[in-house]
Amino acid sequence: MSDRADVTVIGAGVVGLAIAARLASKNRQIYVLEKNDTFGQETSSRNSEVIHSGIYYPANSLKAKTCVEGNSMMYQLCKEYGVEHGNLTKLVVATCDEEIAQIEELLEKGRVNGTPGLQIISKKEIAAMEPNIEAVAALHCPTTGVVDTHGLMQCLIAIATRNDAHIAYRSEVTEINKDGDGYEVIVNNDGEPFALKTRVVINCGGLHSDKVSACAGIDIAKAGYGLHYCKGEYFSVGNGKNKLVSRLIYPVPPAKTTGLGVHVTMTLDGRMRLGPSVEYVDTVEYSVDVGKKQMFYDSAKTFLPFVDYDDLEPEMAGMRPKLQGPGQEYRDFVIKDEADIGLPGLINLIGIESPGLTASPAIAKYVENLVSPYL
Ligand SMILES: Cc1cc2nc3c(=O)[nH]c(=O)nc-3n(C[C@H](O)[C@H](O)[C@H](O)COP(=O)(O)OP(=O)(O)OC[C@H]3O[C@@H](n4cnc5c(N)ncnc54)[C@H](O)[C@@H]3O)c2cc1C
Repeated sequence: MSDRADVTVIGAGVVGLAIAARLASKNRQIYVLEKNDTFGQETSSRNSEVIHSGIYYPANSLKAKTCVEGNSMMYQLCKEYGVEHGNLTKLVVATCDEEIAQIEELLEKGRVNGTPGLQIISKKEIAAMEPNIEAVAALHCPTTGVVDTHGLMQCLIAIATRNDAHIAYRSEVTEINKDGDGYEVIVNNDGEPFALKTRVVINCGGLHSDKVSACAGIDIAKAGYGLHYCKGEYFSVGNGKNKLVSRLIYPVPPAKTTGLGVHVTMTLDGRMRLGPSVEYVDTVEYSVDVGKKQMFYDSAKTFLPFVDYDDLEPEMAGMRPKLQGPGQEYRDFVIKDEADIGLPGLINLIGIESPGLTASPAIAKYVENLVSPYL
């Protein structure tokens, strides 16, 4: 490992890897430093793998812009490099007349955000598409799909390393010190301290990105970077019921929560799952509480009449790195060059929750614009 880099990316999740793949070039030294034994061991491997269409986010927010742009970039990338994916499409269902106004609101939001092809469809059209679900109307999102996240990350690594980027595992960043024009990054490399001098540092530390920014001396409380952990649990639906729907089916998002409602996602191998739930927690751990089975069943039953209680089995959990705490105002992604606080070329990415997977190629493009003056 050399002790000099042009760009150091902290974190080998989908976002750090997308950035490394975008910035890598033969005449540039790029390091990706990852504390775990391999890539994608945290949020990037514990999510719904949905390529979102961009209907949920406030107009002009980074979430809206990077999701809509990332959606089409993601399909393009998957096609170009043979990453497994499926454009399954999605229905957001209104189960009673009162919910129709909510899907109309989502339609409007999506149109403002530039989501293509959205359409409200009738009960009859729903019956033709998905005969086994119950709804009075639905918002059809034709650009929603599913991607093999592991395959995507492998592909990003291949692009980055083919262009001479290096990925160092078991390499935890513990300090970031300003050093002339750039930074000295102190790394715990498999138990041994190591110093890497770099022009640019890009913090893609996911659940730990607030602490990584504190390693550079940033007061995270003052900057508003403190993260809250928000757990999402999933239950799988067995007994052959997975064959009864072919699209992703979402309820209207419940008022005053930070999730999209317990919904149905399909994996690329045809498994059906319900989730994720929304629960703020104090520590990162990934157990699934079997006691939540009744809540999952009750939520699903309103639009999936064929689901029986005994079809549900606990599956897995993920953890959202959220900037907003319980009951607080909506927060957008933070993607920022910290030049205004005397740390030029330190790029922080904080609160990269959903739709971070979808948005990852567009986030990489956005970050490329931020770092280009330094390279
Ligand atoms: C339940 C759930 C469902 C979701 N569903 C979807 C979905 O369907 N579609 C979608 O678009 N998005 C979804 N998301 C969001 C998406 O998964 C995330 O936005 C995305 O995976 C974030 O990637 P990341 O690279 O920022 O973070 P991560 O994957 O968490 O990677 C961060 C990496 O940084 C490393 N790291 C941290 N600190 C250090 C350090 N000091 N030194 C070295 N390395 C360090 C970590 O070990 C980790 O590997 C979901 C999220 C959750 C939790």
